[in-house]
Amino acid sequence: MRATAAATVAVLLVTSGGGDASAVPEEDPADYGTIGGPGIGDPYFPNAGNGGYDVQHYDVDLGYPGTKGDIDATVTVNARAAQSLSAFSLDYRGPAISSVTVEGRPARHQRDGQELTITPARSISSGQVFTTVVRYAGRPGPMPDGPLGTYGWIPTRDGAVVLSQPDGAPTWLPVNDHPSDKATYSFRITVPKGLRAVANGRPGRVVRRGGRTTYEWAEDSPMASYLATVAIGRFRMRHGKAGRIPVITAVDPRFRRSADRVHRTTIKAVRWAEKMFGPYPFATAGGVVDDPELDYALETQERPVYAGFVPSDEFIVHELAHQWFGNSVSLRNWRDIWLNEGFATYAEWLWRERGGRGGRHRNTAEKVFRRYYRLPGDSSVFRPPPGVPGRNDMFGFSVYTRGAMCLHALRRRVGDRAFFAILREWARTHRDGSAATPEFVRLSERISGRDLDGLFRTWLYGKGKPRRW
Ligand SMILES: [Zn+2]
Repeated sequence: MRATAAATVAVLLVTSGGGDASAVPEEDPADYGTIGGPGIGDPYFPNAGNGGYDVQHYDVDLGYPGTKGDIDATVTVNARAAQSLSAFSLDYRGPAISSVTVEGRPARHQRDGQELTITPARSISSGQVFTTVVRYAGRPGPMPDGPLGTYGWIPTRDGAVVLSQPDGAPTWLPVNDHPSDKATYSFRITVPKGLRAVANGRPGRVVRRGGRTTYEWAEDSPMASYLATVAIGRFRMRHGKAGRIPVITAVDPRFRRSADRVHRTTIKAVRWAEKMFGPYPFATAGGVVDDPELDYALETQERPVYAGFVPSDEFIVHELAHQWFGNSVSLRNWRDIWLNEGFATYAEWLWRERGGRGGRHRNTAEKVFRRYYRLPGDSSVFRPPPGVPGRNDMFGFSVYTRGAMCLHALRRRVGDRAFFAILREWARTHRDGSAATPEFVRLSERISGRDLDGLFRTWLYGKGKPRRW
């Protein structure tokens, strides 16, 4: 994700604010937790996700009658049991549930906070693929203020939009809510005539019946739950191609004059990014420019959402770079969020340096790096260390900027040839999977043939401004 330029500049200006003891890292970066209990073992979100099974596919059948913002939904979850299960949990904070079945039989269910505990009529054996169907109806709402303000299911002037990073997916879906359990998705979204529904992945059938239209979408690549999106509104659509990749852009009428530019820049950026990072990892690309009262963008898979503003070229590049770094290669734990944001921020620097704005501007990344490096050590650029930001600062300035500076320090150490080979190999090796920082360090060392422990320790985990790079 990325906050708008205005917000970023505001953060940059407050570079030498007062100290905050909570910003000091107190975690051991080698401790990555284990799977078990009601959560999946994430150090920052202990209740997120669940142990005991692995989801393979979510089928989301969603009705949006258009009155009062209510939905009615039937969500089918196909999962494989990793152990025998007499009961299991999904993460869910949405509207009232009318029924739950497991393998076609009614199942007992109980809600406690965001844990939806389901007790099937018959136990599930280890290795068994089982189907759970949850039906619910009512009005979902966004998360109460979290580290990012408003996220989850967000009403808009003419519909709704979903932006769930990091833990907003349960506001509208019963889900194993952690990026380490990715799954494919299919969507059937029924809206009143005049509205349109857009989601992740490739478009399917459009069925008009009576006064309603059903839009089908399918995400065929594994996707983290926070990247699942649905946008309902009166969108103007643009269709095109970047090479063989279909590009589909939806723009709220309020921003219609920018539709062509956003669409064309996305196409250009896909082609550019393939040269930098290797083949685009998904079936389609595009974007949604929508009109909630928000001010940030999220890299929702295949179709980033720009919420409340028209994106600049750098915004589009940032969210596009996440398709490789964050979406195709997902986090194994949220603490490693620099693997998403540092990479996407560095992509913006590269875009300026390497052909994005018409022609090359040599050393742009170096100049950006130096500009930030001149700032004082207690600046928010440097604190907290991006490898252990703490839950409250996981989307702070240092994760983005010092994370990108870490990549630039790596580039200086190993040279351009090895550096770009490392980026492409990272995307290739972990495509459709999840990974963690130690694997990036090992890959960088293998490709460059250098010992890089000191460099990463300094840039990711050291307090204050790194002295050497
Ligand atoms: Zn981002």
